[in-house]
Amino acid sequence: MTNNVLVFVEQRRGKILPATFQLLNAAGRLTAITGGRVEACIIGEGVAALVETVAGYGAKKIYTVDDPELAMYRAMPYAAALCAAMEAAEPKIVLIPTTFMGRDLASRVAARKHAALAIDCTELTIDGSDLVVSKPMYAGKFSAKFRLSGNCLQIATVRTNAYTAAPLQSGAKAEIHAVTLKLTDRDKRMKINEVVATSSGVKDVTEGDIVVSGGRALKSADNFKIIYDLAQTLDGAVGASRAACDAGYQPHTRQVGLTGKVVTPRLYIACGIDGAIQHLAGMRGSKVIVAINTKKEAPIFKVATYGCVADLFTIVPLLTAELKKLKEH
Ligand SMILES: Cc1cc2nc3c(=O)[nH]c(=O)nc-3n(C[C@H](O)[C@H](O)[C@H](O)COP(=O)(O)OP(=O)(O)OC[C@H]3O[C@@H](n4cnc5c(N)ncnc54)[C@H](O)[C@@H]3O)c2cc1C
Repeated sequence: MTNNVLVFVEQRRGKILPATFQLLNAAGRLTAITGGRVEACIIGEGVAALVETVAGYGAKKIYTVDDPELAMYRAMPYAAALCAAMEAAEPKIVLIPTTFMGRDLASRVAARKHAALAIDCTELTIDGSDLVVSKPMYAGKFSAKFRLSGNCLQIATVRTNAYTAAPLQSGAKAEIHAVTLKLTDRDKRMKINEVVATSSGVKDVTEGDIVVSGGRALKSADNFKIIYDLAQTLDGAVGASRAACDAGYQPHTRQVGLTGKVVTPRLYIACGIDGAIQHLAGMRGSKVIVAINTKKEAPIFKVATYGCVADLFTIVPLLTAELKKLKEH
């Protein structure tokens, strides 16, 4: 086993998930302690085009696993591909983004390689030969520290925006190692017949660097238009509370919270959301939180960076209009 840290590069149709770049920075901090180097693994079809970008964020060696079977994510072939890259790289630590793909993949790879695994970490450091991670527990009420033994392979998935991305000077180069993949029939037994997009052109709530969320106070699906207008003006994504989703104002794919999605954007704007503990579990890790609520005692104000006690039906369109003016200048 080397002292290197291997980062799994999450990409879909040639577009790299920004969280990957954050993980390359986290890996850089760890290798400064382990004395190893930052390496990356890109899995997919036609991934050669992504190598330069990944090198630009500090990967010194990049393992590519390129195969038509890997054009779209499927757990078994991707797990086989990452395991093959890991056999070539022999890293001590593997970092994977905490996403649907990352969670799915990390657990399978950890089982195949008998590795220690920590999911959804927000802080990583090294103590002796152990990887020490912090991760939120009990809907974000506590942060717990875990120690992954240095005697075995250590895998951690890392929450989006726990680290910032740190691009290098342009022209950074990496050594490339093409990994040969031999898939078994078992690896290939699940086929994708059809992919149907659930939303047309609107960002998924986990993809937004800015998220504008609406609660029950919106009162109807039609009224969510003002939330979409603000999100679009900010190039952000739309989220919703469970009450808004249960009422049918938004699909449950947009639900933020304990039983919805966890988001950690740079900016989270909560409009007409009370701030129940289950909602906070999904967004309290956001860098800046703006709350708009008519009730000044609403719990959302306790976690908000900026609070606005006002009617959302007045404030949100005003905010959108002002931001549009700013963008025009
Ligand atoms: C096991 C379990 C899991 C759960 N999981 C989740 C989850 O994942 N996500 C989630 O969100 N919830 C979840 N919930 C539900 C949660 O407890 C709350 O019921 C829910 O978050 C409330 O949604 P809300 O804030 O939109 O609605 P409300 O509680 O009805 O709050 C509406 C808010 O809007 C304000 N308001 C009203 N009119 C206006 C106006 N015109 N302008 C501005 N503000 C206005 C009110 O003052 C109030 O604060 C879960 C509950 C349980 C028991």
